Amino acid sequence: MRWELDWFESRARLTPNAAAIADASTGQEWSFREVNERAKAVAAWLQEKGVEKGDRIALLAPNEISYFDLLFACGKIGAIFVPLNWRLSIAELTFIIQDSEPKLLAFHSKFTKEVTMVWNQASECFQINGSNYQDLITSQKPIQPVDLDEEDPLAMIYTGGTTGKPKGAVLSHRAITWNSISTIASWNLTEKDKTITYLPLFHTGGLNALSVPILMVGGTVVLADDFTPKKAMKHLIRYKCTIILLVPTMHHMLVKSAEFQQTEFMDRKLFLSGGAPCPLDIYEAYQQKGLIFKEGYGLTEAGPNNFFIDPSDADVKRGSVGKPMLFTTIKILGEDGSEAPPGEIGELAIKGKHAFSYYWNNDRATENAWKDGWLHTGDLARQDEEGYFYIVGRKKEMIITGGENVYPLEIEHWLSSHPSIREAAVVGVHDEKWGEAVTAFLVLERDAILSGEEVKEYCRKKLAGYKVPKQIQFIAQMPKTHVGKIDKKQLKELAAKNQNPV
Ligand code: AMP
Repeated sequence: MRWELDWFESRARLTPNAAAIADASTGQEWSFREVNERAKAVAAWLQEKGVEKGDRIALLAPNEISYFDLLFACGKIGAIFVPLNWRLSIAELTFIIQDSEPKLLAFHSKFTKEVTMVWNQASECFQINGSNYQDLITSQKPIQPVDLDEEDPLAMIYTGGTTGKPKGAVLSHRAITWNSISTIASWNLTEKDKTITYLPLFHTGGLNALSVPILMVGGTVVLADDFTPKKAMKHLIRYKCTIILLVPTMHHMLVKSAEFQQTEFMDRKLFLSGGAPCPLDIYEAYQQKGLIFKEGYGLTEAGPNNFFIDPSDADVKRGSVGKPMLFTTIKILGEDGSEAPPGEIGELAIKGKHAFSYYWNNDRATENAWKDGWLHTGDLARQDEEGYFYIVGRKKEMIITGGENVYPLEIEHWLSSHPSIREAAVVGVHDEKWGEAVTAFLVLERDAILSGEEVKEYCRKKLAGYKVPKQIQFIAQMPKTHVGKIDKKQLKELAAKNQNPV
């Protein structure tokens, strides 16, 4: 093993006794030395089981320390860590197991039923919350040296479950290390930083966005699960968390909760939103409490972190994800593939050492993503004259109505600013006359009454006529994907059925 690739070993030597990981549900805490010792024991045990460089090790578990045991153990012996999304259907999980062919499937007893349904004879299963596991993490067997290069894969995270078959994004040692280096440098993280993982650790948002960078810099990761505003407030205060990453739905629940509204915050915490567009009124809720809020943007295939906005700019440039981070190059591509000037909307392309290598067993998807050395994100963005970037939406979600391009996010932001609207999503629906008709789905605040005509009237105040939704559908709950994003595919199907249009 080249010493510089096992940076966690170096971190454990530098600050052995500092708190690396705490578990909010059990109250347990592990120092850097202890986490590294566990990873070393797991690595030696995996080798004993015949795991070799390039073998995949899957994990099906709630947010708990075994994610780091296995990630760092795989790093030490060249195996590839494959965290599994337990919210997927059995068919999707079965596909991932068949696609990634893990040599070992580690699981928490909470998911025993799922494991018996997806397990194939090719891989061995191992329960990580039993006495056997306790025995093995305390063993002190030596690891056999493995020759590793920074381009060797360290993890594979499956994405895109709702838009087709999940794709395994292969992340090398280089990519994971550089995402952390650039995050630490650009976001000014220090060893005093503490985060809490309400986002799932099987997703890049829970694992790579903050947890791994915080561990690299010597800060603390608090493990938590099952987000509720009440629990989150208790943990944020008990653990004095300094930086918290949530998806927009969680932000919304948190700031609306009585617990949040009644709390006087004694320190300035930084709240980040990522994974999906965040309504602009969230800024105000945090600002009123003296807290800082920033919109982030990322994707599994690119780190995920690519932008940073200084706290003093975040409020002025509401809705902007900021400027490109250190070691990251960003380009906005116009329709002809050339670089688009400031103000113009185009596809966001990314270059940097934090980017993924390829999709596992999927050359076609890899070729679509990587063109001329640039990672094409499939997201639309624009840059203002001062170099601040704004995410405009997904390329494939852009609506063309009567020949005009409509970006759903612009309409969603405006609709969400209405006091009676809790959540808004806009999709294009096939229409004989317009090609596509702008259709809005709305979830209203509790006890709110609003008619479709009133919504249209509200839109006319701000938006050009062709952007005003032709159809409005009120729904009780927004359908969400496995990682908490609005499921637009389901909305399109619902719109096509044309239920209760207004
Ligand atoms: P994932 O790889 O699962 O994290 O999904 C990445 C995708 O989430 C991106 O390609 C975007 O489409 C979307 N996304 C992430 N952050 C934002 C944001 N701040 N605004 C809009 N879309 C976002």
